[in-house]
Amino acid sequence: MITDTIAAISTPMGEGGISIIRVSGPDAIEGTDRIFSPKGKLTQAASHTVTYGYIRDPENGERLEEVLVTVMRAPRSFTMEDVVEIGCHGGLVSVKKVLDLLLTTGIRLAEPGEFTKRAFLNGRIDLSQAEAVIDLIRAKSDRAFKIALKQVEGVLSKRIQALRHKLVELMAHIEVNIDYPEHDVEEMTNSFIKEKCDLAIREVQDLLKSANQGKIIREGIVTAIVGRPNVGKSSLLNALAQDNRAIVTDIPGTTRDVIEEYVTINGIPLKLLDTAGIRETADLVERIGVERSRSAVGEADLILLVLNYNEELHQDESELLEQIKDRQVIVILNKTDLPQKLDLQPIYDAMPMERVVPMSVLENEGMESLEKAISHIFFSGNLETNDFTYVSNARHIHLLKRSLASLEEARQATEAYVPIDMIQIDIRNAWEDLGEIIGDSVGDSLIDQIFSQFCLGK
Ligand code: GDP
Ligand code: ZN
Repeated sequence: MITDTIAAISTPMGEGGISIIRVSGPDAIEGTDRIFSPKGKLTQAASHTVTYGYIRDPENGERLEEVLVTVMRAPRSFTMEDVVEIGCHGGLVSVKKVLDLLLTTGIRLAEPGEFTKRAFLNGRIDLSQAEAVIDLIRAKSDRAFKIALKQVEGVLSKRIQALRHKLVELMAHIEVNIDYPEHDVEEMTNSFIKEKCDLAIREVQDLLKSANQGKIIREGIVTAIVGRPNVGKSSLLNALAQDNRAIVTDIPGTTRDVIEEYVTINGIPLKLLDTAGIRETADLVERIGVERSRSAVGEADLILLVLNYNEELHQDESELLEQIKDRQVIVILNKTDLPQKLDLQPIYDAMPMERVVPMSVLENEGMESLEKAISHIFFSGNLETNDFTYVSNARHIHLLKRSLASLEEARQATEAYVPIDMIQIDIRNAWEDLGEIIGDSVGDSLIDQIFSQFCLGK
């Protein structure tokens, strides 16, 4: 039972038109009313209405801020508790003052993620939805935002619940057979279990298949631009950054020294690792040559190999091509505005057509083809048909993999005619792992760990 009332500034810190302080808990309305004038207006306010007034220091009557206060009474609020949102229009300093004053009334400062944690503890949302709220806050692209939104809305939860429901039915079926073995329906049960396991396995595999794409959408495609000096790597980098508005987000928990720049192409964020780093790497490549670009290529999800259309293929370039051809590579034939000197045969021998993109960065030609090629690699070209049910959370992926392993074990066991109470254990394990994704049967420490990832005021 939650008895205390919490408050925090819920809008981003810094300059802004308005800032909102959110208060949640049994004393949210009364507590705010203590520093509000006219007195008693908030305690009388109907749910989901906005009240205009002032924040006054009850000690000396000093007027601190002109505010609009929204009252939302339990359970019709995000946390399912009484919630008050104080809209202040001053700068950060006056908002801080209002918050400090509020904290003198017995309301305490919220921990990071505590509002969302309460929504979870009060049964408003399940765990995967709560985690999606984190993703929403951090979304770096439209697509990432949509996926997170779907998850908040419970798409993933629903699929997991449906799957768990099927497993429960299966377990019940098995239970009957354990309890009444004299029915001697062993043979039929084995094929029945196997069939159900196959269905469940397919569903988990489906969810896992989306995991890789989900991760990419969430975290960005780590992209390395490599090639010999002067082929146009820096020009390409600049063109990409210019054409596709880079969305820079400030992710809590990452160090300040590491700047990550995101370029969004067709909704797919490319993570240009630490722009300075990439430029440095590019310079490094320029100095040391292609031989050394191997290390730059090592960690990348995507490699953009830039070649000069106006020069013959160098020995080190064809070596590099050979070395990386099985990775996610796009070969860019740059400077098509100049006469062709590059022999394309060895390139098309090594790469499929759609991975080779002729371009002139200088004349802004071919950028669209490059963007298409990138989409094609990561979504096999059928972007439109996906329903955004991506699993993108490492914890979810881990649990899905574990439940998949249990289900596969159960299926194999049916073929080996293992006693069904043993099979039952595997299915139960799978059911429990799936339950952990949506927050059934998770321990307090895990819950704390998850919610601590939130920023303050959420
Ligand atoms: P990097 O050494 O690979 O980073 O290459 P840069 O981006 O610094 O480019 C080297 C030179 O090639 C510069 O003078 C660019 O202006 C020029 N360049 C880049 N792209 C093109 C292109 O598409 N056509 C032509 N003609 N020149 C280009
Ligand atoms: Zn360069």
